[in-house]
Amino acid sequence: MSRSPATRPSTTGLLLDLVRTAGTVSRVELVEAAGLTAGTITNVVRDLIDGGLVHEVGRARTTRGTPRRLIQINPEAGFAVGAQLDRCTTTVVLVDFAGRTQATAGLRGAGQRSPQDTLTTLAEHIDDLLSSAGIVRDRVLGVGLVTHGPQDRARGVLLTDQPSPLWREYPLASALSSALDLPVLLENDATAAAIGEQWAGDVPTATFGVIYMGSGIGGGVVVDGDVYRGRASNTIEIGHITLDQGGAPCVCGNRGCVEVTAGPAAVVAQAMRDRNLAERWSLSGSLDETLVDFERLARASARGDQDAHALLESSAQYLALAAVTLVNLFDLDTIVLAGPAFSTAGPQYRDHVARALSEHALSRELSPAKSLLSANVATAAAVGGALSVLRSSSPGERSRSAAPPPRSLSI
Ligand SMILES: [Zn+2]
Repeated sequence: MSRSPATRPSTTGLLLDLVRTAGTVSRVELVEAAGLTAGTITNVVRDLIDGGLVHEVGRARTTRGTPRRLIQINPEAGFAVGAQLDRCTTTVVLVDFAGRTQATAGLRGAGQRSPQDTLTTLAEHIDDLLSSAGIVRDRVLGVGLVTHGPQDRARGVLLTDQPSPLWREYPLASALSSALDLPVLLENDATAAAIGEQWAGDVPTATFGVIYMGSGIGGGVVVDGDVYRGRASNTIEIGHITLDQGGAPCVCGNRGCVEVTAGPAAVVAQAMRDRNLAERWSLSGSLDETLVDFERLARASARGDQDAHALLESSAQYLALAAVTLVNLFDLDTIVLAGPAFSTAGPQYRDHVARALSEHALSRELSPAKSLLSANVATAAAVGGALSVLRSSSPGERSRSAAPPPRSLSI
């Protein structure tokens, strides 16, 4: 059986997300935040309470008038899985209905394996994660499968030959859905990272950009609290801005892109040209090991190795150019760096981006845009994938009911 969650949240889903984001909230505050009438909010909240999705947790202290009753999400009402799949690494997270991460697992990426083999292994790890967390399948709303683009999100397929031609048009979402008997939603990794960053609440603004660096480089933008999806969620492909049209060929069909100039594979390839450096840092040079090699190089730089530092400096300077472009395009005041490639090298890139934004972004006279490093570089995208599932479905919309069974909700 193949199923996919709705790609747009329902009104009930939006209201649930308001409660989820607020933590604890009153009906009056929901009226203001949702822009709905008090009567509608009262009815929907009653349904949510009856369905076991939210519960009352007492009353707010007030100096006058009737104290407002407060509600919270019931974290046990359902769960979602986020799986960030990269050529080199895969990260799986389990979040509860309140959006809190309950369990995390890491495994190898797709490498040279076929999509069938990769998804079989991924499904086994998701099963193991659910088992070890004590969560039965019927309580899981779905899986957010987070990976690179370009992709056709509605059909759940990739529109690229990466990491091999077998992946183009392979029915990723439906195949994983069949393997797990759960709904699966395909999501762009950088977009998911933007959702994860917004959810983490560490970004002090509702409009910001994310530069995501795993094996490749991508971008995401949140505008007034909503992730920008463009026509089909293939947005902010900041890794494929051409820096040098006579540069190295890129997987996208163009030349001299940010990704082939500054990405982890480019940095490792440059190091591999010097046998002494490759041996000093124990680099394999395999494209399937790019992030492992890049991390070794980054750790050498952090230990004070000047050669490693110089290689990362060059990459960071190019990435900073991409950040300036992103800020200029969207008039952003904050750029967040996320993705596994920033695990150790993050501070060096963050500082370069900050300097470039203060010196080159057109809005610098107003105030220099900020450069932040995600507090969850390795998991932000997987968490964002799980949140996409939570936001696009509710337990009442499942084909199979959970225990306790919440009833179908509508307003
Ligand atoms: Zn490209």
